[in-house]
Amino acid sequence: MTQTESISKRLDGKIAVITGGSSGIGLATAQRFVQEGAYTFIFGRGQSEVDKAVKDIGKNVMGVRGDVSNLADLDRLYDMVKQQKGRIDVLFANAGILEFAPLGSITESQFDKSFDINVKGLLFTVQKALPLFQDGGSIILTASVNASTGFEATSVYSATKAAVRSFARCWTVDLKQRKIRVNAISPGPIDTPMTRSMVQGESGQQLKNKLLSTMPLGRMGNPDEIAKAVSFLASDDSSYVTGIELFVDGGQAQI
Ligand code: NAD
Repeated sequence: MTQTESISKRLDGKIAVITGGSSGIGLATAQRFVQEGAYTFIFGRGQSEVDKAVKDIGKNVMGVRGDVSNLADLDRLYDMVKQQKGRIDVLFANAGILEFAPLGSITESQFDKSFDINVKGLLFTVQKALPLFQDGGSIILTASVNASTGFEATSVYSATKAAVRSFARCWTVDLKQRKIRVNAISPGPIDTPMTRSMVQGESGQQLKNKLLSTMPLGRMGNPDEIAKAVSFLASDDSSYVTGIELFVDGGQAQI
């Protein structure tokens, strides 16, 4: 966010929970949510990473360490939210991992780990939050352009994100009586620790340049460009938007 950018307070008074909130897209979104007026709980894996994120954000934030694929950790997260604030208005189910493996060398443990975190973890992140949800709240799920495109060595990851996109459709219907909106956000390549580890070395740079050369905006996105779109979906500005997949991808999957 630039110094001169004026910050709206469109999330004033809202209680938000962000998984994967200690790094990358989740951290940028937590920063923006707090600046826009929400009290925000961040949930992430490493205690030191969570502590650092809480310190950097500074106020109106609480960190909880845990693993989304461990249901007892999710219970601990929501016990904390219930005890501290008593309700949730906005849930950004964002934690996820990406591991590369082409068909032929996918292992059972890689498959299980990806689906445990990206699919099972996300499902129970949402399901276990429901008792704390206010009618009229907003749930945002992090999918990916990979749900709609074919890149080499990403079939397992892409399948997990296609499942996430499907969840947004079905849960929109399951939750319609409670007027809870559910939307998916699909980022293109965003400069975060996840992608930084992929573009290291000469071959990584070549891969990055090849990808960017095919994209209308010709560059990677920054995490706050996703955070701004998530904040829109979290806020009442998107009160007539539900069930969608919002691509924030520099045009990558649109042409
Ligand atoms: P990141 O690695 O910077 O952040 C991932 C976050 O998820 C971290 O806070 C980490 O602690 C948390 N996390 C991972 N596994 C977890 C688990 N089992 N339990 C709890 N927390 C866990 O990556 P990012 O780029 O910010 O990715 C965030 C989301 O965006 C992911 O779902 C990713 O698939 C998706 N995405 C990223 C990009 C991109 O280009 N960066 C593109 C499309 C989609």
